[in-house]
Amino acid sequence: MKHRPIKASILTQNLSHNLFKVKKMTNLTPTWAVVKANAYGHGLKPALKAFQDSEGIALLDMEHATLARELGWIGRVLLLEGIFTEDDLDDVVNLSCEIVIHHEQQVTWLIQWLGRQSLQNVNQFLTNCPIWLKLNSGMNRLGFKSAQYGVSYEILKQMGCTVHHLTHFANADDLQVLPSVKDQWEIFSKATQYAEGLKSAANSAAIIGHFFTHADMTRPGIMLYGASPSGKYEDIAHLGLKAGMNLRSEIIALQELQAGDTVGYGSQYQAKKNTKIAVIACGYADGYPRSAPNDTPVWIGKTGHILEGQIAPLVGRVSMDMMMVDVSNVSYAQIGSPVELWGELNPIDNVAFPAKTVGYELMCGLANRVKQEIL
Ligand SMILES: *Cc1c(COP(=O)(O)O)cnc(C)c1O
Repeated sequence: MKHRPIKASILTQNLSHNLFKVKKMTNLTPTWAVVKANAYGHGLKPALKAFQDSEGIALLDMEHATLARELGWIGRVLLLEGIFTEDDLDDVVNLSCEIVIHHEQQVTWLIQWLGRQSLQNVNQFLTNCPIWLKLNSGMNRLGFKSAQYGVSYEILKQMGCTVHHLTHFANADDLQVLPSVKDQWEIFSKATQYAEGLKSAANSAAIIGHFFTHADMTRPGIMLYGASPSGKYEDIAHLGLKAGMNLRSEIIALQELQAGDTVGYGSQYQAKKNTKIAVIACGYADGYPRSAPNDTPVWIGKTGHILEGQIAPLVGRVSMDMMMVDVSNVSYAQIGSPVELWGELNPIDNVAFPAKTVGYELMCGLANRVKQEIL
């Protein structure tokens, strides 16, 4: 039996290669490899294998922290949103996680929890579970304002906690928008200048564009998966990052159009001349963006040799299970021709950008029904 031909291949070696690039770019600064959202849609298991040389992984939910430990991850684990309730600390200590603390309620939970633990548990927490106190340096999403930051720091230190320092940039990918990385970095430096502990601030965009933010630990996410933090492929083209995922399918039908004929729902594309159209087994129910307009690039390969191929333009509205491509200039296009929607031959950013989104969203939105193969 031949299945519907769409498939996502996870390219473990490319993920490792991208971590290596980050290490090189940052003079071997320790890393939190960010693997939230199921490793940006690539799967936690291949990501852990690929990121073995990272000192730590950063994610959000206890289920994935547990899974990481079950899969044998012995490195550091950071919970980026910290605890959601006091009882989460039972798991934190059992799994030896490090936690972000970003609001006062979390400090209260910690005090209360420590108050009802055995001495052994308290010691285990204080030894194995450093805290990353988060400063709101201008993004206004998570974190303490500067004034409150010092107070919380002192409370945690007095309890015997190891406290490190973390902040997050709002505009590391765009020099034109305020607050700038420099503004936020200055606020972070000032708030932490008399404190002990490590500092972590840089996401992918700051790793690439703002070397002064690398500090003691970086937090690369999107660049590990081979896509651009700004959403523009040109911004990372020179860095030698490789795609973490190939989303590929096949041509399942062909149509011959005459001038004036239209394609698909809403007849959003009209042929100006005789046009050969290929129908691809991939639609928005697979995670391809319905917002992708005419001319979004699709790679059409030769049967059995996908590397030999060319880009052809999407035409008409993407439907649930299919999309159409103008293959008038692709002489070899036939039923069964391999197609790359995004990946090593067709950068995901070049699909995301015309669709008015970013590689992040496409990766994370890959549908469950797409079979994944780990290479
Ligand atoms: C997601 C996230 C990152 C990684 O961001 P990228 O833009 O994917 O590199 C880093 N730090 C925090 C706090 C995050 O939430």
